[in-house]
Amino acid sequence: MSLLEIKDLTIHFPTEEGDVRAVNGISLSVEEGKTLGLVGETGAGKTTTALGILRLVPEPGEIENGSIVYKGKDILSMQEKEVQDIRGNEISMIFQDPMTALNPVMTVGDQVAEVILRHQNCSKTEAQKRMVDILAKVGIGADRAGDYPHQFSGGMKQRVVIATALACNPKLLLADEPTTALDVTIQAQVMEMINELKAEFQTSMILITHDLGIVAESCDSVAIMYAGQIVEYGSLEDIFDHTTHPYTIGLFGSIPSLEKKVHRLQPISGLMPDPVNLPTGCCFHPRCPYADERCAQEAPAAAEVSPGHLCRCHYWETVRGKEAEDNV
Ligand code: SF4
Repeated sequence: MSLLEIKDLTIHFPTEEGDVRAVNGISLSVEEGKTLGLVGETGAGKTTTALGILRLVPEPGEIENGSIVYKGKDILSMQEKEVQDIRGNEISMIFQDPMTALNPVMTVGDQVAEVILRHQNCSKTEAQKRMVDILAKVGIGADRAGDYPHQFSGGMKQRVVIATALACNPKLLLADEPTTALDVTIQAQVMEMINELKAEFQTSMILITHDLGIVAESCDSVAIMYAGQIVEYGSLEDIFDHTTHPYTIGLFGSIPSLEKKVHRLQPISGLMPDPVNLPTGCCFHPRCPYADERCAQEAPAAAEVSPGHLCRCHYWETVRGKEAEDNV
C-alpha cells in the first residue's frame, strides 16, 4: 500500500482578478522509502501541492476537491489537532529558502529542540540530547547550537532547516527546491546529505525541483507538472528513457547534453499561462509544436502509455514516433 495517495486534488485562490487555478485535479502516490520528483517551471503548482498535503495553503486559498490519503486516512477530513500532530512530526517540509525558514531571534539549537519537544513525549534534557545528535548528523557541532541563524552561511543554514525537518524522524519529507538558494558547489553536498539521511531513516520523499539532473540522481518516480496538472507521470526510466509528452520533451531539449551534439539548445517557446485565464483545451497548446485545433478545444485525458506511465496528450503516439525518428 502507498504511504501517500493523492486523488483529484484541486486548489484555487479566489482573488479580485479572478480565480487562480493553482492545482487542477492532480493524482499521485508515494511508496514507502521511495522518492517522487515533482518537476515543472515556476508557477506550475508544485509548492501549492506540498502545502496542500500539510493543509497549509495560505489564505484565501482553498482546497476545493480531492483526497490526500496518508497511511489509509484522508488528511482533508482530519480534525485540525490531528493534522497538527502529523505536521512536522510524521510529515515535514524542507523549505526553499533557509534565510526565511529560520527564526532569526532563536538559536538554531532551540529551534530544533522546539520541534522535538512539541511532538515527542520527552523531557527538556532528552530533547537537548536529541537536538545535539541530529545537528551532528547534518555536520553541525554541539558548540554551534547556541548560535543564531545570521552567524551561519547559506549552506549551513540549510543544514539547520534539514535537521529541523528530520528532528522527529518523519515518514514523509516534502523537500521544496532544497538546493535552489545555495551556491552550485554546496548544492551537491546538501543533496548528497539529504539522500544519505533519507536512506538511514527510511523516509519517503517528494522532491520538488525544476532540475532534471537532481531528479536523475535522487528519484524513483517522476510527475511532470504544467499549469496545475500532471502532464506526464511514471518511473524514472519511463520519463528519462521513454519521454512522451511534448512538454517533457521540451524540458529535456532545454538542457545541455554531453552525448548529443547540437548547435543550439531548444528552449520551450512562450511562457507559463496565467492561472486566472488558463487556455481552453490542452493548457500547453499555445506553446506546443504539435498543437492543432482539437488541442485548443478538447482537454486531453491521461492515457496509459505503458503500465504506470501516464501522459496527458491527444497525440502521444505520433509525438513518440516523431521523436524516435529524430533520434535515429
Ligand atoms: Fe500538444 Fe495537443 Fe498534446 Fe497538448 S494535446 S501536448 S497541445 S499535441
